[in-house]
Amino acid sequence: MRIAVEGCAHGELDIIYETIQEMEKADGKKIDLLICCGDFQSTRNLSDLNCMAVPDKYKDMCTFYKYYSGEKVAPVLTLFIGGNHEASNYLQELPYGGWVAPNIYYFGYASVVTVGGIRIAGLSGIFKGQHWMQGHYEKPPYTENTIRSVYHIRNLEIFRLKQLTGNIDIFLSHDWPAGITKYGDENILLKGKPFFKNDIENNMLGSPPSMELLEYHHPSYWFSAHLHCKFAALVPEKGGTRVTKFLALDKCLPKRKFLQIFELEHNPNLPLTLHYDLEWLTILYLTNHLLSVKSGIHYMPGQYGNTRWTFIPTIEEKAKVLKKFNCNLQIPLNFTQTAKPYNPNALDGISEPPQLLINNQTTQFCNILGIDDPSVLLQLMNNAKECKSNESMMETSCEQISSSNEISISFEEDNVLSSTFNGTLSDSSFNHTSPLNLSPKSNSEEQELEACSTKEADGSLNNLSPLANSDCTNDSNNHVIQIEPNCKKFKRRNYSIYSNTL
Ligand SMILES: [Zn+2]
Ligand SMILES: [Zn+2]
Repeated sequence: MRIAVEGCAHGELDIIYETIQEMEKADGKKIDLLICCGDFQSTRNLSDLNCMAVPDKYKDMCTFYKYYSGEKVAPVLTLFIGGNHEASNYLQELPYGGWVAPNIYYFGYASVVTVGGIRIAGLSGIFKGQHWMQGHYEKPPYTENTIRSVYHIRNLEIFRLKQLTGNIDIFLSHDWPAGITKYGDENILLKGKPFFKNDIENNMLGSPPSMELLEYHHPSYWFSAHLHCKFAALVPEKGGTRVTKFLALDKCLPKRKFLQIFELEHNPNLPLTLHYDLEWLTILYLTNHLLSVKSGIHYMPGQYGNTRWTFIPTIEEKAKVLKKFNCNLQIPLNFTQTAKPYNPNALDGISEPPQLLINNQTTQFCNILGIDDPSVLLQLMNNAKECKSNESMMETSCEQISSSNEISISFEEDNVLSSTFNGTLSDSSFNHTSPLNLSPKSNSEEQELEACSTKEADGSLNNLSPLANSDCTNDSNNHVIQIEPNCKKFKRRNYSIYSNTL
């Protein structure tokens, strides 16, 4: 399988796709996958452009909106992580990943996917120490501060990525893993970028949690962008045999080294379509209670607490999640527009104020897996705040606000609290580590779970997800369970808990 890797895209999709097509023509070989390492700039319209953290003179619509509106179609399956110049309001709609346009898939805050059995992990954003312990509290319209903090990496995603086991073929981060330069030729790097000298000497260049992940997983390849130059390094495993090939690429500009093509052997029995990684899905499911949408310091469970602190999924836990997806881990092609695309012919050029939108792709994903959508939690908190600020509002009207929302409140109030406030967790809610299960437990569902459990015996669940997937008999017509969200009324007493902590 031929993979093209791109550094920062900075909205130049037309140029990138043209370059790929020229390369295909030149050597007569098709490129199967394009991976972009952030600063993708998926701006759909002027309102998105205002959610991007760049000086006004760089606020350029570029070309993504054409792929969003349907005027053009991405000629190759394109995957990307977020960087520090993004339509953050749009990316916030897809916290667990999703299609931003047909054939263009965003990783979310972090995720793991497979293509042809090749396992690709991605982490969006850049590291900044001051926001690392906070929840995902930012929401559009952003302030001067939140327009930047929204793309800062949080400890939750690193914690989740650390639960992964097995080989990872490709790992993506926007900023470089800290200390990576010492594994390559620093002199050549400093010739092109002399102003990196201080940062390199003081070990200030790059992201410490990314280097932790690199040393922990030792993926075969690690790709980054952000510093707008090409740099290669080889990181050997301490006391092991694995070596990680690191490559950073430049941004998309003429005569710059922004694209790298390489071949990777994939499983020829698997289609080159995008699949969820079963282990990752199970980790998301098992750690849903750790999600916070508050700005306070939020700790991840540690070894010395009395609650579960490792979430490496068991075979049974993976079987349960595989069942939820009806043994089909192919990522559905369910892109829909959530905002109007930019119209270059419109004369007014007025942009609507950005707002937090609930994206149907995320709703579907969360309903199937039984986890919370951070945007829904943020909306609830916002409603609670508005309710509190209006003292004359009666209890009934508060309830109306929450239940008359366009979105369905698809989780139980206790789970809202436990995912939002680490301080209010009781032992009992922790012991029951699985997040809320939205799907009704029908008899047939129990039977299916048993059927999935029997598959453990032949070891199919230990394989990469698409293999496990192909082992499943697919009688999807009978198995699709229409999930009715468990709409709980949001009770008055919780409002005080929310508002005290806002
Ligand atoms: Zn960047
Ligand atoms: Zn960049």
